[in-house]
Amino acid sequence: MRAMRFHGKGIPLRLEWVPVPTPGPRQVLLRVHACGLCRTDLHIVDAELTDPKLPLIPGHQIVATVEAMGDGVEGFAPGDRVGVPWLGSTCNECRNCRSGRENLCEKARFTGYHIDGGFAEYAVADYRFCFPIPAGYPDRQAAPLLCAGLIGYRCLRMAGDAEHLGLYGFGAAAHILVQVARWQGRKVYAFTRPGDVKGQEFARAMGADWAGGSADLPPEPLDAAVIFAPDGALVPAALRATAKGGTVVCGGIHMSEIPAFPYELLWGERVVRSVANLTRADGEEFLALAPQVPVRTEVAAFALEEANEALNALRNGAFNGAAVIVVRDTD
Ligand SMILES: [Zn+2]
Ligand SMILES: [Zn+2]
Repeated sequence: MRAMRFHGKGIPLRLEWVPVPTPGPRQVLLRVHACGLCRTDLHIVDAELTDPKLPLIPGHQIVATVEAMGDGVEGFAPGDRVGVPWLGSTCNECRNCRSGRENLCEKARFTGYHIDGGFAEYAVADYRFCFPIPAGYPDRQAAPLLCAGLIGYRCLRMAGDAEHLGLYGFGAAAHILVQVARWQGRKVYAFTRPGDVKGQEFARAMGADWAGGSADLPPEPLDAAVIFAPDGALVPAALRATAKGGTVVCGGIHMSEIPAFPYELLWGERVVRSVANLTRADGEEFLALAPQVPVRTEVAAFALEEANEALNALRNGAFNGAAVIVVRDTD
């Protein structure tokens, strides 16, 4: 099969012919249709996340159909359309796994990082971590739901019942989350890089009540803010825009250093917290919710052999919404 593989920092992904993987026990063999890109993929190829398998097939927002099944697979049949998220396996035994926090499992393994992912024609995945894709979503539209959507949704849950919600960084996750938050009746304030007029127009077009630069103060104090951009300086900026008792949620897996800030920004029972990974319950809940809203994703499509161009486009903010590698064009 054709695969785009990562061999180490500074080396572009290489298009290579590799054997189609064989599904082991409890694994499904998947024919990949589409795979979304995520900022985490950039953190991997830039070696800000330091523990990938090598060589690695990146990609953790896989939409695929089941081609074959290993021993012990239940509930799936050949031809079923499934999604594979970032959480690839857990130990099922540690304190976190046993307390509903499998996202924090000490032995968790992640798709497109410890396990080969979806920048390829085929992939294998543990069936217990695959989700059915809601009917009616074209493959490429569904792909961004699997990380940008799921982890964005977990961030929204951590924001509690905030009526005035700020989103810092208006990329794949925020363009999904704004739709969910508005549907829930919240007011959404989108913050982009200062001067990013096009990004702000896109945010308003997707439903944001207000859009401005990250150093601006919103017209109303925020009850909660979610930071998706990997810039630590946004933490004090978001605290400054957040009302007493409000929460600032850091939604990314990596962030530049957070600069020192005066205690008064945190005072008043403001909370700063991160969101790490996802649980399968998050996935089931969000994928049931998405068609009700209904969430529509804005997608920039790239061919498999264009994965490096897609990563660069993501790095440079060259498109609105989400980038998706279309491996098999079914739409
Ligand atoms: Zn991701
Ligand atoms: Zn565990």
